[in-house]
Amino acid sequence: MDFDLTTEQTALRDAVSALGRRYGHEYFVAKAKAGEHTTELWNEAGKLGYLGVNVPESYGGGGGGITELAIVCEELAAAGCPLLLLVVSPAIVGTVLARHGTEAQRAEFLPGIADGSLKVVFAITEPEAGSNFHRLGTVATRDGDDWLLTGRKCFISGVDEAPYVLVVARTAVGDRLQPALFLVPTDAPGLTSSKLDMEIVSPENQWLLYLDEVRVPGSALVGGMEAGLPALFAGLNPERITVAAMGAGTGRYAIERASSYVAGRQVWGRPIGGHQGVSHPLAHAAVQVELARLMVYKAATLYDAGRDIEAGVAANMAKYATADAAALAVDTAIQVHGGNGMTTDYGVATLLGGVRAGRIAPVSREMILNFVAQHVLGQEKSY
Ligand SMILES: Cc1cc2nc3c(=O)[nH]c(=O)nc-3n(C[C@H](O)[C@H](O)[C@H](O)COP(=O)(O)OP(=O)(O)OC[C@H]3O[C@@H](n4cnc5c(N)ncnc54)[C@H](O)[C@@H]3O)c2cc1C
Repeated sequence: MDFDLTTEQTALRDAVSALGRRYGHEYFVAKAKAGEHTTELWNEAGKLGYLGVNVPESYGGGGGGITELAIVCEELAAAGCPLLLLVVSPAIVGTVLARHGTEAQRAEFLPGIADGSLKVVFAITEPEAGSNFHRLGTVATRDGDDWLLTGRKCFISGVDEAPYVLVVARTAVGDRLQPALFLVPTDAPGLTSSKLDMEIVSPENQWLLYLDEVRVPGSALVGGMEAGLPALFAGLNPERITVAAMGAGTGRYAIERASSYVAGRQVWGRPIGGHQGVSHPLAHAAVQVELARLMVYKAATLYDAGRDIEAGVAANMAKYATADAAALAVDTAIQVHGGNGMTTDYGVATLLGGVRAGRIAPVSREMILNFVAQHVLGQEKSY
């Protein structure tokens, strides 16, 4: 057993951390509040090769694994810059295309995903189906060599930043989901979107998508007809592991900010960090974050070793644990800041919406508990 990163991974971690800290949380918040995106950070990270660390070298990526991408996600978040689209474009779409895309799709999309010049977002969630993907109502029907897609999607992140969205549809109406994934241009005729008002301080927006007989060529279908289910599942573990890494990084960021604040703030003639009523909750949160973080790298290591089933269990547990740990860390950080904790300037309350959403998306804590109850504890499914 080895808990150490390799020399290359350590160098990656240090370099990404330095980049993230050069921008910092103030930059992230300023962009979010101005309704702008963190384009400068994204582009610089892309140029330095950090966004495509997991994309195969033959398509311009770093040829690493999800461990490397988790390191990037964690360190940027630990610098106060949790970039949600890392989870969507390189983690989900990059993996789905690398594993199941046709050669033409890989050649067209992966180099841009790797250097960050092309963002592809991901649309599965629907208003009616919710967590029950078997009820997906977006239907793809054949029309000659083309496909026509009709349906509605909600909470889709980054639609305004991406020229393509990977849409999950069903190819047949019935109880059993036969999914198929399509690369759809976001300016395709018949595709409209409207922005959701979210209570999250984030430079990324969530969107409702309406697809009204959106026509795409046969070449937009990822893999073949048989690729649907495996292609959909291929994105799940990378998504959970990277979102968990981001949660761990956010927890670290909140604890670091809070520790530095309580070491300096004096109310009774000595730093408030000397009161155990202040330091113990912070220490408790630090323990929870570190425990959750360990599970992130266990999941990433299993995934990169090709042990998909075990990685699935670990990825779900890591996602569950980091979401709770990050929420605890941010809440505790606010508390020990007193009134300053609720200001924008001190840079902790700005994370509240994001960490709260982390317990709901991309998969809710209840659905993870269902997964663990059924697949680890062998209990009956209740739904
Ligand atoms: C910030 C943000 C970004 C997102 N980005 C994307 C994106 O880019 N692409 C995308 O496709 N989606 C995205 N989503 C959607 C997200 O994946 C869903 O919100 C999430 O999967 C939960 O689905 P739902 O909102 O429909 O909740 P529902 O399914 O309606 O669930 C509501 C509540 O009921 C609970 N519940 C439901 N069924 C059960 C059950 N069987 N047992 C116990 N509890 C249950 C849930 O856990 C939850 O607490 C995003 C969401 C957010 C908040």
